[in-house]
Amino acid sequence: MPHSSSPSASPSSCAMIDLFGRRVTYLRLSVTDRCDLRCVYCMAEDMTFLPRDQVLSIEELDLLASAFVAAGVTKLRITGGEPLVRKGIMDLFAGLSRHLQAGTLRELTLTTNGTLLARHADELARAGVKRVNVSLDTLDAARFRAITRRGSLGVVMDGIRAALEAGLKVKLNAVALAGITPDEVFDLIDFAHGHGMDLTFIETMPLGDVGVDRIDQYYPLDALRRLIETRLTLKDTTERTGGPARYARVAETGGRLGFITPMSHSFCENCNRVRVSATGMLHTCLGQEDAFDLKAPLRAGGDGAALRATIATAIRAKPRGHDFVIARDGTPALARHMSALGG
Ligand code: SAM
Ligand code: SF4
Repeated sequence: MPHSSSPSASPSSCAMIDLFGRRVTYLRLSVTDRCDLRCVYCMAEDMTFLPRDQVLSIEELDLLASAFVAAGVTKLRITGGEPLVRKGIMDLFAGLSRHLQAGTLRELTLTTNGTLLARHADELARAGVKRVNVSLDTLDAARFRAITRRGSLGVVMDGIRAALEAGLKVKLNAVALAGITPDEVFDLIDFAHGHGMDLTFIETMPLGDVGVDRIDQYYPLDALRRLIETRLTLKDTTERTGGPARYARVAETGGRLGFITPMSHSFCENCNRVRVSATGMLHTCLGQEDAFDLKAPLRAGGDGAALRATIATAIRAKPRGHDFVIARDGTPALARHMSALGG
């Protein structure tokens, strides 16, 4: 049912309600498509990255994020590529923290691979970041190097430790990978819950050519859940963190497990989010090609009316949902890599 207005909503927040009545309150902003790792499900070994002049400046990223906050976004996640490799990234966090202080933004957070977290954890905490998501698929150093094609597990572990010591809440994200996750799932749960961290498993999504066969990587989460339940007791909860994860409590550890299942179950009916790429393209659905250029209205300057109008038009056109399938011939559902939008 379309909700074009609501008595208590301001005109700007009405602009953030789509034709299916979903209110968009969550922006994921990619600040770079570059990364210091090459995870096998995310990137090809030889990636061609965007020319730097196509990527928004730190000042433009701030303006853009601030326009969304003014329109009613209350949760902002900085992502990439790897957000912490972006030059000037700490200036962006420091600047955006003014919206936390003003109370217009409830949460400022980031998703990171953790390689530079040891260096930046304290500063992130000072900017008002309370929680970070760290991607970690394995606790085995050799597997870590194979999955990331170049990373060092120890460096990421140092980053996680630094984040916890800085008082940040850490959530671990693990992509479910055939041949790896079933072998390590109990160790990952012990590690996460032993340190007070939530752990969320994600099904691989067919985004971009990564130079390896997706069917070989894919491990369905219903199978993973059945495996977990051979040793642990899962109690489903109704808790949501504004994202697509469904959560369960592990009775034996008291910790929380999340399951993100874009491939085997749809979660689009409650979708509250949009994504902006580092080039200023607004994507209203991760699983569709539709995108709106915000860079042109942003660079047009003025009082920001053109930018606000483009955002409002895009939100109204937000698609009902995605329809991912992993093609048998391995063709990606979308040519765009996950690193273009940051998950
Ligand atoms: N570099 C940061 C990181 O790795 O956390 C942020 C960007 S990364 C693209 C965001 C998340 O997307 C990570 O948790 C990563 O594991 C996940 N991801 C990447 N490619 C994926 C794919 N094809 N299917 C599912 N998740 C994917
Ligand atoms: Fe980089 Fe994150 Fe993609 Fe891995 S998942 S290659 S760390 S952007």
